[in-house]
Amino acid sequence: MINKKYCPNCESGKRKLILDVSGEKDTYLDYLNSKGYLDIDYKNIVRQYWQCEGCGLVYRSPVLDKNEKEILYEYFRDVEFRGENRQEYFNRITSYPRQESENYEKCRFLEKYIPETGTLLDVGCGAGVFIYAFKNYFQKWEVLGIEPTEGFAEFAEKEGIKVDYGYLTENTYDKTFNLISLIHVLEHVDSPKPMLSLLKKYLGSKSLLYIESPSVKDIDYLPSSHDRFMSQHDVIFSESFLQNCLRESGYEIAASEDFISARKRNNVRILAKLL
Ligand SMILES: [Zn+2]
Repeated sequence: MINKKYCPNCESGKRKLILDVSGEKDTYLDYLNSKGYLDIDYKNIVRQYWQCEGCGLVYRSPVLDKNEKEILYEYFRDVEFRGENRQEYFNRITSYPRQESENYEKCRFLEKYIPETGTLLDVGCGAGVFIYAFKNYFQKWEVLGIEPTEGFAEFAEKEGIKVDYGYLTENTYDKTFNLISLIHVLEHVDSPKPMLSLLKKYLGSKSLLYIESPSVKDIDYLPSSHDRFMSQHDVIFSESFLQNCLRESGYEIAASEDFISARKRNNVRILAKLL
């Protein structure tokens, strides 16, 4: 694990403590330790969330290093950990009635802003549950996902969803997309700006970027023992931080809100386009 003494966004060391989870269990690490995939004696480590007084970013310290994160993503959908395999997970999420489904709710939000036809790239798409809903809702759109966890691409293909395996880089595609979605992805990255700047390469002048992520409001709303405050999340955003970050990265804001999801969690979502 890596201790963070400086803000990963603006490098300021001025900060205030906003949440201490040192006494809480981390079920991800408990599982990974129990299987011998990791050996992190986290219960003896002070684990805290800090808010940067320079830019407002809320960041965790310590965070998992790159290798530890890869191990987390490899196993965190395990049947033993979740009580369901990928297929069962996919079937459960995609069988919710449209009115109760968070994925269809995102479609209803997007409907006001996107054209009738276009191309979607869902970055960090996992098993493809959002793409599946999007494709059903917007049938004239072409859809594609990219996911760095091995196994999801083969899985999604069986469901008729095209998913490329790997991390998005400067050289992954030689085209732009009308819509790029980043749904519950950016909080797993230690600092958002490199990703926001990379995505510009894949957006055209009229394209939109949809970002959805946990909101910092959950710190007052959920107990500190909640899953949201475990080692899988490096940072937590406020709506204003994310807006500023996008503007500083060369975007303008088309729509933005802090909302409570069907699963009763606070989320921030922003639709942005290139300046
Ligand atoms: Zn900062």
